Amino acid sequence: MTDKNVHVALTFDYDAMSVWIGSIGATSPSMVSRGEFGAIAVRRILKVLDEQNIKATFFVPGHTAVAFPQTVVDIAADGHEIGHHGWVHENPVSTTPDQERWIMEKGLDALDKVAGIRPVGYRSPAWDNSPNTIPLLLEYGFRYESSLMGNEYEAYWCRIGDEWNAKDEWKFGTPVDLVELPVSWMLDDFPHFELIIGANSGQKNPRDLLQVWIDEFDYLYDRIGVGIFNVTMHPQTIGRGARMLVLEGLIDHIQGKPGTKFGTCAEYAQQWRIGKTPSLPRDAVA
Ligand SMILES: [Zn+2]
Repeated sequence: MTDKNVHVALTFDYDAMSVWIGSIGATSPSMVSRGEFGAIAVRRILKVLDEQNIKATFFVPGHTAVAFPQTVVDIAADGHEIGHHGWVHENPVSTTPDQERWIMEKGLDALDKVAGIRPVGYRSPAWDNSPNTIPLLLEYGFRYESSLMGNEYEAYWCRIGDEWNAKDEWKFGTPVDLVELPVSWMLDDFPHFELIIGANSGQKNPRDLLQVWIDEFDYLYDRIGVGIFNVTMHPQTIGRGARMLVLEGLIDHIQGKPGTKFGTCAEYAQQWRIGKTPSLPRDAVA
């Protein structure tokens, strides 16, 4: 028997062209074509997941679902989870409440039309939630979201109504019935690999990142022992040759370790909820 209990959530933000159009505002066909490769890469990734018998989570903007419907159908048919990821990778912080609602519905419609899916999970494009995001997710029946960074390997409850400014005391809002599966820039392939001129990013040695991810996993497994290892990848990014070896190397490192399980985000969020009710983080003053 082991006392370890680590859930490994391999997550893929299948942005395709949407990230270049919605987040970067690209007008160059060449830049947008970087996203087109995502559909090729999804096939490589699905093959590896199938060979390793791993179920993963794909967060898919509606724009991607409509552009490459067969890939989304096939992701679902393989038993992977599909989550909401905006329409065309808009940053919710730069939208009005009406626009954010429109994006929510447009994304839901696309996933429904293409693959008959009603997602229970949401990941904000660029991991930026607006003050309206959590209420909107509750209204539309989501069960978890995965864009915040208030913990590392431990899920927690989302909140509505945190208040802050530079002069007054911090005020925690009200915890609500929505599970947060926290993310981390360290465990995201995009800033390490994607070259964007003028930004501090891109073109790191894939083997170096593999070592960082292995160390992150080992810290969780060896020192903490219980929690979720939530890795964010992008098919267009991790799916390139040398970087696929990072994904494969990470799986090889983890597979077979007692007390670890690869699975979807929805599965973990559902299991984490059992016996819990919404509450503030420990040490937080209400
Ligand atoms: Zn994304």
